[in-house]
Amino acid sequence: FEKEAPVAQVATPAPALVRVTNRERVIFPEGKITKGELADYYQAVAAIMLPWAGSRPISLVRCPQGRGKKCFFQKHDAGSFGDHVHHVGIAEKDGHDEPYLFIDDAEGLVTCVQMGTIEFHGWGARIEDVEKADRLVFDLDPDEGLDFKDVVSAAFHVQELLGQMGLATFPMVTGGKGIHVIAPLTPQAEWPAVKDFAHRFALVLAQAEPNRFTAALAKAKRTGRIFVDYLRNQRGATAVMPYSARARDYAPVAVPITWEELRTLEGAAHWHVGDAAELLKRAASKDLVGWGRADQVLPVL
Ligand code: ATP
Ligand code: MN
Ligand code: MN
Repeated sequence: FEKEAPVAQVATPAPALVRVTNRERVIFPEGKITKGELADYYQAVAAIMLPWAGSRPISLVRCPQGRGKKCFFQKHDAGSFGDHVHHVGIAEKDGHDEPYLFIDDAEGLVTCVQMGTIEFHGWGARIEDVEKADRLVFDLDPDEGLDFKDVVSAAFHVQELLGQMGLATFPMVTGGKGIHVIAPLTPQAEWPAVKDFAHRFALVLAQAEPNRFTAALAKAKRTGRIFVDYLRNQRGATAVMPYSARARDYAPVAVPITWEELRTLEGAAHWHVGDAAELLKRAASKDLVGWGRADQVLPVL
């Protein structure tokens, strides 16, 4: 019994206000997971997902014919998403504004599913001020031959180094192969400073242990190493949102975890869209309630 369980109050999904057509359509052929099941998953986790995925510019991975077929990344609205998916104007390089998408409720999530969305990716900034980052994320991408254990030890290494600079970090398994190490930031630093910090951090990591880490995008440099993808920390870049489903075999989901759990977890795709009840219960536990929350700013190097 947890004393503080604010999330548990909203664990019962509200009645869906968005009509989902073709609920029986199989979106994930392996495991025969349907569009209706995917919509129900997002309806159920909306309350724990939206504190992160809500009110920030998002990109969607849409696979209207299902996971095995053609999928595409969508940043802008062709005008067909309706009332529950909102727009925020963001200046492009040439100065003109482009409308980016954001959502702030379960109806928004479910509308996106109705439109064929499987994955939700988000900027590292909120719509109130898209120039100021509210998180750093180090996306640890293991090369093919590596074990998940190698990614785990890399994540602990990143935690340790950022901790030495006064930054609390929180791990998330992506539902794919890797781990994201996330440092929440009180929005203050702008993108050029945030990217510069992340880049230099990744370079230091790679220079100290070149056989273990690389900060180079080139595939050839990654052989047998973990790519410390710092490029999620630039203006316009996205990372997969907590509790997003993934367009991969058996519908895994990205899940915030504790550092303690990471010690024994055997892979990055441990939870799936069928696990909504367990995810809600976990999120309300005392070890996870504070996940991703810390009042801290970018260190000056
Ligand atoms: P994994 O653990 O398997 O690496 P991941 O979500 O970290 O899962 P990556 O390929 O490392 O996947 O991508 C990191 C992030 O970069 C994604 O979550 C996504 O937000 C962004 N990204 C990846 N591919 C694209 C793309 N084609 N267009 C736009 N953004 C992308
Ligand atoms: Mn990754
Ligand atoms: Mn990556």
